[in-house]
Amino acid sequence: MSSYILRCSVCKTSFETRRGWLSHLLEPSHQNQARKEIISWDFEKRACVLVAFAGFPVANEKVLQYFNWNVDRDAIVTDFVWSEKRPRVGIIQFESR
Ligand SMILES: [Zn+2]
Repeated sequence: MSSYILRCSVCKTSFETRRGWLSHLLEPSHQNQARKEIISWDFEKRACVLVAFAGFPVANEKVLQYFNWNVDRDAIVTDFVWSEKRPRVGIIQFESR
C-alpha cells in the first residue's frame, strides 16, 4: 500500500504511513486531546463516524487496521476515541479518498 501524508489536526504532527498513523491515534497524549475535540465535531464529521462495540478492549492497532481495510477500501481512519470507563466502546471517524 502506498504511503500517505497524514496530519493530526489535534496534535499538529504528520505521519507518512498508515501504521504510524494508527499507532499515534492510540497514544494517551492523542487520546486526551481527542476526547476533548470530539465534543466539537460538526455534522459533516459526525456523518463519517462509526461507534464500535466489541467484546474486548477496542483500543488496539488490530481493531483500527480492521476498520481501516474492511469498511471501505478507499477510506481511512481519521480519528479514533475510546472511553477509559467503557474500554469496549470506540468511536471511529473515517474519511473517503
Ligand atoms: Zn494526535
